[in-house]
Amino acid sequence: MEKGLRKLGVLAFLFGLVALLAACGTSDDGDSDSATEDGDYDLEEAYTVVSDNSFVPFEFVEDGELVGFDIELIKAIAEEAGFAIENDEIETTNFDGIIPGLQTGQFEIAIAGMSITEERAEVIDFSDPYYESGIAIGVLSDRDDINGLEDLDGKTVATRLGTTSGNYLREHVPGAEINEYEQMDQVYLAVENGSADAVMYDLPNIEYYIATEGNGRLKVVGDLYQAEDYGIGITAGNEDLVAAINDALATLKENGTYDEIYNKWFGDAEGDNGEEAEED
Ligand code: GLN
Repeated sequence: MEKGLRKLGVLAFLFGLVALLAACGTSDDGDSDSATEDGDYDLEEAYTVVSDNSFVPFEFVEDGELVGFDIELIKAIAEEAGFAIENDEIETTNFDGIIPGLQTGQFEIAIAGMSITEERAEVIDFSDPYYESGIAIGVLSDRDDINGLEDLDGKTVATRLGTTSGNYLREHVPGAEINEYEQMDQVYLAVENGSADAVMYDLPNIEYYIATEGNGRLKVVGDLYQAEDYGIGITAGNEDLVAAINDALATLKENGTYDEIYNKWFGDAEGDNGEEAEED
C-alpha cells in the first residue's frame, strides 16, 4: 500500500516535470500555433462538442452526415483555437438536453443556434454572440386570419421544447394553446396537417425551411418579435476555453472565414443577418 502510494507520488512528480518542460517549450520556441497568438490559454487537447439534430441550416443531418453553418463554424473555431473535437465527432441531442448536458459536464461545448439569455447564462457560460437572430410566426400560405401575435390568442401554436419561443408565447400570449415538440419536423408537420394554427420559432429556421423542404407551403407573418443573439455554450468555469473561443471567433470574422461559411449557408444576397433584428 505504502509502496504503491510512493510510486504514485514519483509518477505524479515526473508527470509534473514533463508538463512543466512542455509548457516552457511552447512559450519559448515561438511556434506558429495560433492559439498562443493572442493569449496563452490553458486548454485541454480535446473537448466534447454537442449540437442539436434538427435546426436547419445551422445543424441537420444530410445523407447521414451532420452539416450546417454551426457545424462548419465550430470546426473552424476548434482549429483556430488549437483544440480537437473529442473523438473527432460532434455529438447530437434534442435541444432540451443540451443545457443539462453542459451543466453535468457530459458535454463541454455546445453549438446549436442557442440564444443567449440571462436565465441560461446563470447555469452555463456563453461565448460572444456569433449570429443575430430572433423569433417569428409562420402559418400556412393560404391562411389570412393570422397576421401577427395578437391573432394567436385562442389558437394552437406549435414550437419546440426547451426553446425561447415557448417561453415567449407563455409570457405574451397566455390565451394560446402551446404545443411543444422535441423535433422541428414534428412542429412543421403539425402546422401543415392542421393540428396547429401556427408555428412560432427562430426566423432563419422558418425561412430556410420554407425555401427548401417546406416548399412554400408556409409563410412568415407579423414582425420579428424578439431579437436574439446566438452564442456557443460552454460548461461553467472554463474561462480559458471561453476566451480562446472568443479569440478564435474574432480572428475568423477578421480573416473572412466567417463570411465564407455564412455565405455558403445564407447567401450573399441576404446581406447582414442582423438587419431585421435591429428594427424593432
Ligand atoms: N434559438 C432557440 C433557443 O435558443 C432555438 C434553438 C434550437 O432549436 N436549436 O431557444
